[in-house]
Amino acid sequence: MGELMQTVTIIGSGPAGLTAAIYTARANLKPIVYAGVQSGGQLMLTSEVENYPGFQHPIVGPKLMQEMTEQAKRLGVEVVNADIDRVDFSVKPLQLSAGNKSFTSQAVIVATGATARTLGLEDEERFMGRGLSTCATCDGFFYRDKRVVVVGGGDSAMEEATYLSKICSEVILVHRRQQFRASPIMLERARVNDKIKILTPYRITQMHGDKQGLNAVTLVNNDDDSSDRLDIDGLFFAIGHDPNSKVFSSYLDTDDHGYIKVHDYTKTNVDGVFAAGDIADSVFRQAVTAAALGCQAAIQAQHYLDR
Ligand code: NAP
Repeated sequence: MGELMQTVTIIGSGPAGLTAAIYTARANLKPIVYAGVQSGGQLMLTSEVENYPGFQHPIVGPKLMQEMTEQAKRLGVEVVNADIDRVDFSVKPLQLSAGNKSFTSQAVIVATGATARTLGLEDEERFMGRGLSTCATCDGFFYRDKRVVVVGGGDSAMEEATYLSKICSEVILVHRRQQFRASPIMLERARVNDKIKILTPYRITQMHGDKQGLNAVTLVNNDDDSSDRLDIDGLFFAIGHDPNSKVFSSYLDTDDHGYIKVHDYTKTNVDGVFAAGDIADSVFRQAVTAAALGCQAAIQAQHYLDR
């Protein structure tokens, strides 16, 4: 290890990572961003964004991330499309590896975000991309005039169902409870949509299909345990996310859910390692709050390096 020495390494390329990159680049720290194999973070899986300031009209998530990436590159940021898969934060300089490439860095900003959850049903792997999806924006196109199910009761589920209603012939929203976690405005938008049918309190216990892919699910009523088979063309999970903190778990303190613990804004328990965005924020989880945390991490990394 240790052939190359970075001043600041940023892991993750969502709003937090790229904002940290923009700020550290402008502070002349020559940051490198490890964007991950799936670069851009969760906004790559989002349709229209209308709550990120600076855009009078809605901007689609992937376009917003492309703009942020180009902005960072224009400022001289190097963006590498690889995952950091090993770190050693017990030594200084900090050590990192991406595949067979190893290097050291004086400071690290972890902005690895969170990943979509699945139900953990049998055959998820088999049907993923063949009738099963965790991203309506990515895969909705394949379900034109089809009947699909969206699982979940939060804002993601409402957003995905509403998005799919513009493409599919019928969207059935399945939620396990009568009460919804979604914000009233997003729930209402789904409720008044003629193409969306809301089914509560139901759970999905089984997926059915053939060589072509998934074609039905078993639905169980959570009140009386009665079950039904429902023929569908697509199934979308929209049941929340898990923080991508596994690579750092031997070194960085996390909470019970795996979110990295920070103190004094973005400082982790390891000197020189900062965490920003959804990886350290299970409460707000917004693009704009992630960007703000990325800015804080960049400035704190700069202060750390000044010392
Ligand atoms: P969330 O708020 O955590 O909601 C997850 C939903 O999935 C809950 O309704 C939960 O049910 C259900 N669920 C979880 N595990 C399940 C399982 N194993 N089986 C069945 N159902 C399961 O997650 P989210 O909707 O992804 O939203 C996350 C955050 O992002 C929120 O703060 C949200 O406001 C924000 N967000 C905002 C927007 C926007 O403003 N445009 C869009 C998307 C997300 P229970 O309710 O029963 O626990």
